Amino acid sequence: MPSNKMKNLRKQAAQRQGGRCFYCELPMWDDSPEEFIVHYGLSPGLAKRFRCTAEHVEARRDGGKDVAPNIVAACRFCNATRHKAKRPLDADTYAQQVRRRQAEGRWHPPQVKTAFSQRTAPPV
Ligand SMILES: [Zn+2]
Repeated sequence: MPSNKMKNLRKQAAQRQGGRCFYCELPMWDDSPEEFIVHYGLSPGLAKRFRCTAEHVEARRDGGKDVAPNIVAACRFCNATRHKAKRPLDADTYAQQVRRRQAEGRWHPPQVKTAFSQRTAPPV
């Protein structure tokens, strides 16, 4: 599989999702984190979590294909965490779990929430 194809699929998905993670719905960066770090005032370590990755809705090992309808854009953290499980949850179930944990403050560290909420507030 040429990596260019995955890159295009990832970029298309990110665009469809307004640049936000399919799971936690927070903004992501793609080519370089620098602007992202400056814009949100995140540390480089935290910014790493929000690298845009291509996520297979149906995992490759379950026969999921590298085609647009099977690819969403997810932040590195949500993507990696989903696949840490022995038997990863299906994408919708996992999305619900992520959002529930996030609402309880048990997903990203608190400074993440602060950074994004300050910078995404509409101008007064
Ligand atoms: Zn995420």
